[in-house]
Amino acid sequence: MPDLTSGVASALSPLVRRIVAPNPGPFTGPGTNTYLVGVDEVAVIDPGPDDAGHVDAIVGAAMPERIKWVLLTHFHPDHLPATARLVARTGAEVLASTRRLPKDADAVVDRVLRDGDTVEGTEFGLEALATPGHAPEHLCFLLEEERTLFTGDVVLGGMYSVVNPTRGGDMAVYVATLQRLERLRLTRIAPAHGDAIDEPRVVIRDYLDHRAARAAQIAGLVAERPRTVSELVAAIYGGSDLPPELVTAAGWQVHAHLIALKADGRVTGAARTRWRPV
Ligand SMILES: [Zn+2]
Repeated sequence: MPDLTSGVASALSPLVRRIVAPNPGPFTGPGTNTYLVGVDEVAVIDPGPDDAGHVDAIVGAAMPERIKWVLLTHFHPDHLPATARLVARTGAEVLASTRRLPKDADAVVDRVLRDGDTVEGTEFGLEALATPGHAPEHLCFLLEEERTLFTGDVVLGGMYSVVNPTRGGDMAVYVATLQRLERLRLTRIAPAHGDAIDEPRVVIRDYLDHRAARAAQIAGLVAERPRTVSELVAAIYGGSDLPPELVTAAGWQVHAHLIALKADGRVTGAARTRWRPV
């Protein structure tokens, strides 16, 4: 398996190369994976954080004039910010599900992709799939020639993705997206963080089972007695010494589940209150 050293382009297939950005961390794993699809005409998926060296590595791997498209899975700060710098070097067209970028973004979306729209290169077709949940604007991209799905942050290599309700995340929508992906015929998942996944169905099924188990656990804990999000996090993750940033993320995840359970009529409550059974 090609390694995940940042700054080095590694070939995952004749059509796909991966460059890991130098932003490793608890939420990004080894760093953001930037993918280059195609050789004569290149689509870059998720330019990553705004790092000059990373953009040099992308342009160096492809030659600036060959980079025709920048495809954005979503707008979180480990995916979007290098876009403006990459476009300045290449003149590439920027494609995403909406033109409404975060206020601090200096990039511009040139073309809006709807579910089912495709980007046609000389050697490949990439189909956009609307996959909200982790972020409302999230797209995955299906490389038709290889049945490889670029999943952004919907499915990750070696970890679960976080659904943060304070940044537009929606657990019920996320689970519906996973169910949709499970029905696709895929040979490989190329995630935005972590290594490629060669058993897509097994991993998507595990994600769905994990979410269902966590929802049941939270509903059970609330049924025992009313609890706040932090009390639930303590009960679920117990005495394990999670680093503080992961405690925060666990809180988002639990809160996202509570909102979904509330919509199902199983619990009631609001942020910073004790959630109760219905
Ligand atoms: Zn990410």
